[in-house]
Amino acid sequence: MERILIIEDEEKIARFVELELTHEGYQVEKAMDGRDGLEKIKTRPFDLILLDVMLPGINGVEVLRRIRQTSEVPVILLTARDSVVDKVTGLDAGADDYVTKPFAIEELLARVRMTLRKTKSVRNTMLTAGQCQLDIILRTCSVNGVDIELTKKEFDLLQALIENKNRILSREVLLEKIWGYEFDGTTNAIDVYIRHLRQKIEEPFNLRLITAIRGIGYVIKDE
Ligand code: CA
Repeated sequence: MERILIIEDEEKIARFVELELTHEGYQVEKAMDGRDGLEKIKTRPFDLILLDVMLPGINGVEVLRRIRQTSEVPVILLTARDSVVDKVTGLDAGADDYVTKPFAIEELLARVRMTLRKTKSVRNTMLTAGQCQLDIILRTCSVNGVDIELTKKEFDLLQALIENKNRILSREVLLEKIWGYEFDGTTNAIDVYIRHLRQKIEEPFNLRLITAIRGIGYVIKDE
C-alpha cells in the first residue's frame, strides 16, 4: 500500500483530501505544519508528499528544499491560484508537480496517480547493490556517486548479479546469461570479467560487493 503524507495547515482541506485518498486505497498521514511534516518524513518512508505552500512557520517551498537535501520522494505542491512565483520556485526547488487551489479532487487524485506511476517506472530502471547503482536503460554505473565506465559484458555480468541478489549464480549460468549458448570457451572467462569488475567497482572504493563461492560461482549479497 502506498503511503502519502499531507502537509497542510487548513484542517478542513487536509481532512477532505485524507478521506478521498484513503478511499482510493492509500495509507495517509497528516502534518499541520512544515516542522511536523519534516519530522514525520525523517522517521518513516513515504511514497508521495502533498505539500501546501502557504504554511505557518516554515513555508512549503522551504520545507521542500529541506526534504530535497536528503530525499527524492515525489512531492506535489498545493499552490494558491495564479501564484506563478510559487509554481516556478516550487518546481525549481524540486517539486514533481503542483495543483492550484481550489482544486477539484479528481484532478488531485489524477496527479497523485500519475506522479506515483512516473516514479515507479523510474525506480524500476535503477538497480542498487550497496553503494553501487546501475541504470539499466541508460546503461550507466556509479559507485558512491562516481560514474564508472563498464564494457558491455561487464555491465551485463553486474546486472545479472544484482538482479539475482542473494542468489548464487554458477559460472555456467552466468556464461549463458551473458554470452548465450554460442559461447564455447571455458567458464574461466567469468573469473576474468569478475576480476575486471572488481578493479573498477570495488578496489578504488575499498568495497566488497561480489562474493566468490568456491567451486560454484558468484553472488552479490544484501548487506
Ligand atoms: Ca495553507
